[in-house]
Amino acid sequence: MEQSLEIFNRIVNQLLADEQENPVAEHIPTSKLYDRLDLKLQQEGISADELERSLKDLVFTTPRTATNAFFNQLFGGRQDKAILGDLLSVMLNNSMYTYKAAGPQIGAEKVVLREVCNLIGWDNKADGTLAPGGSMTNFMGMLMARDAYNDKTRHEGVQQTMIVYTSIESHYSTPKNAAFSGIGRDNVRKIATDAEGRMDSVILKKTIEEDIANGLHPVLINATAGTTVLGAFDDLVPLCTIAKEFNIWLHVDGAYCGSVLFSKKYKHLIKGIEQVDSFSFNAHKMLGTPLGCSLIVVKDKKHLHNSFSNDASYLYQTDHDEFNLGKTSLQCGRRNDALKLWVLWKSVGTKGLEQIVDKQFELADTARDYIRNNADYTDYGIDDSISICFNYKGIPARDICTLLYEHSELLVGYGSFREDEFIRLVTINATNGNEDILNFFKILEQFVTEHESLFAKSIS
Ligand SMILES: *Cc1c(COP(=O)(O)O)cnc(C)c1O
Repeated sequence: MEQSLEIFNRIVNQLLADEQENPVAEHIPTSKLYDRLDLKLQQEGISADELERSLKDLVFTTPRTATNAFFNQLFGGRQDKAILGDLLSVMLNNSMYTYKAAGPQIGAEKVVLREVCNLIGWDNKADGTLAPGGSMTNFMGMLMARDAYNDKTRHEGVQQTMIVYTSIESHYSTPKNAAFSGIGRDNVRKIATDAEGRMDSVILKKTIEEDIANGLHPVLINATAGTTVLGAFDDLVPLCTIAKEFNIWLHVDGAYCGSVLFSKKYKHLIKGIEQVDSFSFNAHKMLGTPLGCSLIVVKDKKHLHNSFSNDASYLYQTDHDEFNLGKTSLQCGRRNDALKLWVLWKSVGTKGLEQIVDKQFELADTARDYIRNNADYTDYGIDDSISICFNYKGIPARDICTLLYEHSELLVGYGSFREDEFIRLVTINATNGNEDILNFFKILEQFVTEHESLFAKSIS
């Protein structure tokens, strides 16, 4: 073990130093991958030195998601205390199904979930769990909605045409989950949004009424707190009213931006959250923990037990069920994803988490101010979002993003809303400063100037 930890330390220290000089790793085209790197596995083992060389090569050519040149995904940066927690959970290697197997780690997870419920304003009837990613916590929300609508479903399978409502801008996990759950992709209604990317509640209500009139069974409204492209927040207040009126489960997919819950300044973006049935968010997005750390909380924990418990005498042999978290889990063996958030939270406090969230909006404001005050940029974004959407000199977004990637300059992606396609800069790395955001634009502009011939046709 000691030798492996030494190798780990050496490689990581070298990486951290190199990241300062080279925030973007060498780009390896897929066609060259197996020539460039020694990835093959062989019959005989190799020495520790050879292994370290191979590992270093692999690590050094891997995309760098923690640097000030990575804006491609809805995560980025490193919160070191969260990493400390995750490293410990690997070392301890507990499974979170029983108190017997995980001991006090269960307590740490329960405290995290309890505090999240407290922030929402939910009493002791509320509870939650973690699953491998936002797609899976959304899946849990959908399954609880399905079973809450018709409790026989768990035994008989889906016998009714159940309908799910989500906005056209929502994440693709909803149709996938509809397929998994037996509800079916074709029974997902993609509700139009307003010009700011929020679900249109008037159209939603009309669609529900039509479906009911046609003898169909609405079971779930899936709202989004931070749509994947624009970062828009569906207005929860009218959705709560509709959900109550028609007795439909309301889930909030806050995978991207649900962590505004931690911010006094931005919590208003999820106004009404205390009225919803379930809420999921990814701490590995806005809170900056390592992947994956996705939580789902439910206003009434009976639904968690109802949909996810199964007796297993070979597993649940001791302790009260309240500490045997397997009873409310999608999985059997489950890695300890709570500890990284617990360690971060313990270290920086709720106030520290709030600062992490607020910082991202501050960086977003810096970026928005920059593009709005510069005639070479066209702004496609919305206010109160950490997704900055723009084009530069009318150059097609996909061309710029691809060339920046291939030249190892910057990692940034593009998205579209309605007719427009644009670059999407995500200011989710709270360890960046305003200077890093301005540096992004500087690199982009220099790159276009230096490669004018590549863009000549499209510059307007
Ligand atoms: C990222 C994201 C998801 C999926 O989360 P994973 O952890 O990647 O599975 C779901 N919904 C939204 C809005 C997201 O941004």
